[in-house]
Amino acid sequence: MAEHIDHLLTGEGRTFPPSEAFRADAVVDERIYDEARADRLGFWADRARELHWHRDFTEVLDWQPPHARWFGDGQLNVAYNCLDRHVEAGNGDRVALHWEGEPGDRRTITYAELTDEVRRLANVLESHGVGAGDRVAIYLPMLPEAVAAMLACARIGAIHSVVFGGFSASNLRMRIDDARATFVITADGTWRKGKVLPLKPVVDEALAADGHDVSGVLVVRRGENEIEWVEGRDRWYHEAMADASAEHEAPALDAEHPLFILYTSGSTGKPKGILHTSGGYLTQAAFTHRAVFDLHPETDVYWCTADVGWITGHSYVVYGPLANGATQVLYEGTMDTPGPGRPWELIERYGVTIFYTAPTAIRTFMKLGRQHVQSSDLSSLRVLGTVGEPINPEAWLWYREVVGSGIAPIVDTWWQTETGAMMIAPLPGVTALKPGSAQVPLPGIAIDVVDDAGTVVADGEGGLLVVTEPWPSMLRTIWGDDDRYRETYWERFGDRYFAGDGARRDADGDIWLLGRVDDVMNVSGHRLSTAEIESSLVGHESTAEAAVVGASDETTGQAVVAFVILKSRFADAQSLEESERTLRAHVASDIGPIARPRQVFIVPDLPKTRSGKIMRRLLRDLAEGRDLGDTTTLADQGVVEAIRSQLR
Ligand code: ATP
Ligand code: MG
Repeated sequence: MAEHIDHLLTGEGRTFPPSEAFRADAVVDERIYDEARADRLGFWADRARELHWHRDFTEVLDWQPPHARWFGDGQLNVAYNCLDRHVEAGNGDRVALHWEGEPGDRRTITYAELTDEVRRLANVLESHGVGAGDRVAIYLPMLPEAVAAMLACARIGAIHSVVFGGFSASNLRMRIDDARATFVITADGTWRKGKVLPLKPVVDEALAADGHDVSGVLVVRRGENEIEWVEGRDRWYHEAMADASAEHEAPALDAEHPLFILYTSGSTGKPKGILHTSGGYLTQAAFTHRAVFDLHPETDVYWCTADVGWITGHSYVVYGPLANGATQVLYEGTMDTPGPGRPWELIERYGVTIFYTAPTAIRTFMKLGRQHVQSSDLSSLRVLGTVGEPINPEAWLWYREVVGSGIAPIVDTWWQTETGAMMIAPLPGVTALKPGSAQVPLPGIAIDVVDDAGTVVADGEGGLLVVTEPWPSMLRTIWGDDDRYRETYWERFGDRYFAGDGARRDADGDIWLLGRVDDVMNVSGHRLSTAEIESSLVGHESTAEAAVVGASDETTGQAVVAFVILKSRFADAQSLEESERTLRAHVASDIGPIARPRQVFIVPDLPKTRSGKIMRRLLRDLAEGRDLGDTTTLADQGVVEAIRSQLR
């Protein structure tokens, strides 16, 4: 097998250096890289000591591959760092959350109020017998109570497992069983696309069959929908809170005390319960949030659109921003309710300065057209971020021009549920930005691109992304399955972490993510990247969105098969054959004949996970006429049928 991924698309074009004004006021400058290079562990120890420690640590890192302990003999309380600390520093009146419900109802919650809420909730949990080390499943939508629930668990040392509110009863039950959770926090329902989506009935269904350990269910009232009640097990959140004391002292917990379990989104197979711990996780979440977004907590208003059910919601809605005392927007509903202007109205109303979202959302905004964006005043925005998939240069440029008024820097942040926090990203006051590339490892992070044998590949050649040194927010294991932890991430390269993504470094040393290694195609001995061919397709004026897979082929081993959604004005204007021909020719001339798709299917939609990522595995199954594997994390089952009928 060829050792590396062939790089065909150049992509290196214009760069966008920071403006003088931005640079002058940036929270970090280029010296931070020197500082980390000179003494990596000392650098992280200094970042850790920006937090409050109940007991200082003497050892920074204990690394017994593949198990790391960071700040091992230190003690802290994560919730205290996110809440009480700010109140004690005199910032209790600062807004923590500008919450807005989908129907338009609003709540403003200060740091003092959120601290009070979390102390009460910690008392409620303890009164139900929940203690340090117990697992609590949180099945809540984007409500302030979701943030409070996570922090209340953190405060008492209970391990939360947040399950995205769109998951079915069987998905929820699988996660409850895997973690052996004893307590559930949910809501009656939540507003989604103009209707109430019931949640409590899903919990009831998940718990209907015996064999679980759940003894209590706390229910937030939100949807006001009819629900059933199990006496002795169920309790209203507001009633429990009214009776609870607001006095609660945050205990000192070990740095390595487990903070949460989070199941990966399942783009590639059976979800894994990723375990994160306290001190190292909070250190890296807080530092990266401040440095990568250039956060000025006194003046910035930050909005991350991720659901708390994903890692981005953990690290960059809850722990990073709150540890930094940031003011942020929290929004319950979908981006297109009641209309496509919703996100832009929110940005104008709250004066959002930092906006963090996913490429899938950006491509949807592009498809809908710039008029919806430009009907709001977005002049407050000064930093834009993206995460979740490679961002095509085309979408990057659109994001900067249309959303960022042509001036806001864009930080493309590469990281994973497993890494806990950002790993590769530009620093907006330092890095000359390059559309489509996540660019540079963050200070204190060590990354290489290697071939199958583990040898570092030359710049310009594609290979496998590895992290060569342990990092503070790394996963500690897979819950209940340390063997799978070793096999999945460490078996391949020993003490180097195998991320499962393809990457290459360009001549400037900047890193380009090429897609998941499982998705890399092998055409006539050339290893081709899904991301590059997709970017080429999205670069054509008729394409709204594209997914590319390798399907088995008698002559070439594998052949490139593309699935394309056309922009509506093109969908109507030309025949399918015409579109297919044009796009095949476009890729061949843009990248090279080797990348020319064997087939281009024009489809109405693409199969995505609930976090919005394309599930290429299913497309490969479809292209090869196979039965589909695990589809439980698919957002919309109907999409697959629509595509299947197109293939016939
Ligand atoms: P599973 O591991 O269960 O298949 P998942 O990988 O989608 O699910 P996440 O941990 O949320 O779950 O996603 C991490 C992956 O997302 C990365 O490995 C990478 O493939 C992709 N990714 C995230 N950010 C970026 C980025 N900025 N550029 C390119 N790819 C990214
Ligand atoms: Mg993954």
